[in-house]
Amino acid sequence: MFAPTTLPIPTPLRTDSYDVIVTGGGPSGAMAAIASARQGARTLLIEQHGFLGGSLTAMGVGPMMSFHDNLRRQIIGGLPQELIDRMIKKGSSPGHVDDVITYCSTVTPFDSEALKMELETMIEEAGADLLYHTLVVDTAIVDGRLTHLLVANKAGLTQLKASIFIDASGDGDVAVRAGVPFAKGREQDGLTQPMTMNLKVGNVDTEQLRRYARENPDDCEFDAGAAEGLRRLETSPRVSLKAFIGPLRRAREAGEISTPREFILLFETGTPGVFILNVSRIQGLDGTNPYDLSKAETIGRRQCAEIFHFLKKHAPGFEHAIRMDTSAQIGVRETRRIQGLYTLNQDDILNGVQFPDALCLGGYPIDIHAPSGEGTATRFFKPGTQYSIPLRCLLTEQVPNLLVGGRCLSATHEALAAIRVTPQMMALGQGTGTVAALCIRHHCDPRQLDFRLVREALVANGAMLEASPNS
Ligand SMILES: Cc1cc2nc3c(=O)[nH]c(=O)nc-3n(C[C@H](O)[C@H](O)[C@H](O)COP(=O)(O)OP(=O)(O)OC[C@H]3O[C@@H](n4cnc5c(N)ncnc54)[C@H](O)[C@@H]3O)c2cc1C
Repeated sequence: MFAPTTLPIPTPLRTDSYDVIVTGGGPSGAMAAIASARQGARTLLIEQHGFLGGSLTAMGVGPMMSFHDNLRRQIIGGLPQELIDRMIKKGSSPGHVDDVITYCSTVTPFDSEALKMELETMIEEAGADLLYHTLVVDTAIVDGRLTHLLVANKAGLTQLKASIFIDASGDGDVAVRAGVPFAKGREQDGLTQPMTMNLKVGNVDTEQLRRYARENPDDCEFDAGAAEGLRRLETSPRVSLKAFIGPLRRAREAGEISTPREFILLFETGTPGVFILNVSRIQGLDGTNPYDLSKAETIGRRQCAEIFHFLKKHAPGFEHAIRMDTSAQIGVRETRRIQGLYTLNQDDILNGVQFPDALCLGGYPIDIHAPSGEGTATRFFKPGTQYSIPLRCLLTEQVPNLLVGGRCLSATHEALAAIRVTPQMMALGQGTGTVAALCIRHHCDPRQLDFRLVREALVANGAMLEASPNS
């Protein structure tokens, strides 16, 4: 736990002032900034990289999963759906397609370069300012309120002032610097979900891959059974598979593979023949420790080289595949979870609790990649389960004018494993940005805001807050 910090004021220092500052341009932060600016707040979005999208671009993650519950009823609308509609129009996403793996009912592939540009266009159209290559390094607390962020970039150090702050850094960087307590990892030993270096490969012969899956269903894993998976394989315009179980096991026994993963998890992107390989697994390292992060990058890249070599040698469809790139940064699934006014827990998820201050719905199962050992523990839900993510998990006792959105919000290890996926994080981002802007309009802090105003604004902008019957 960190004590609240008082900012030492270095000189010379420029100070810019905003209504709302969002830290982090990932799925959650980008949507928060767009929503805030569209609601009329003078908004700044700060991002350490030179592009938006967070995990979806920097960590090579995809596809988005899922805009639907396990009965294929849509639960995410609003800004995230608008983003997909815009990308469909430009040919950079096929939209929601059947998940051949049958883990979810649908997945949403996309082209990551197009995603970067579409998010920038939406930010520009909304009128928000964008500050790239800028790292938030500290906070100033005056009389219990967060007044400034200290940022570091090519111009040196700058103070940025705002009335409301949104921490969408994924790691809770702002909240923690401002003195908000947090937890990390699972309860028994503090270990988090592992990191993964995603690898992108092109020139995959998708027809051959489909034929292999059809002819070798036992070499693949379909969560809802092979019959349903193979049915979806015939109709889905993009392939997703957990495959090559036998060859991978044999390669491990022969000492060709060291990655502790039981199948090759592959997802075709918005571009036919281009695949994301979500296979590498780096356990026991802390995504907020810079030395651990550095180590994870090198281990991840080494594992990806090994996996690519395996595919070229053993996997039908990959004979002529080309290695495009490993992601710009290691994929970090879980780090700090701040302690908010309420901590979302596994029972809230399993029982589909509908909170009166829900900012969005969710339907993705509890999906825990083993923090140690092998495997992935999934808790699937009874049919039609829809849960909700409430505002109270974004608010803290310590800092009244801070909203902690995205995957660093207040949740247990298990609950985070369900809510963390990108459609839900984007919907949550829309909710967070809307709350921030309404606070500016009504001259209050989030805790004082009449939540009816939030619901009204969100519903008017396409957000889906009402769970479907029998959820
Ligand atoms: C390997 C892996 C596979 C996954 N697979 C899927 C999948 O298939 N489908 C799916 O939907 N979800 C998947 N997820 C989950 C999902 O990608 C993340 O949980 C989600 O992106 C979280 O969104 P976010 O906006 O909270 O955080 P992030 O996407 O992490 O975005 C945070 C942003 O903040 C920036 N930032 C951080 N700190 C600072 C700072 N101090 N100053 C300035 N900027 C900062 C970062 O650069 C980043 O852009 C996966 C995640 C991982 C790691």
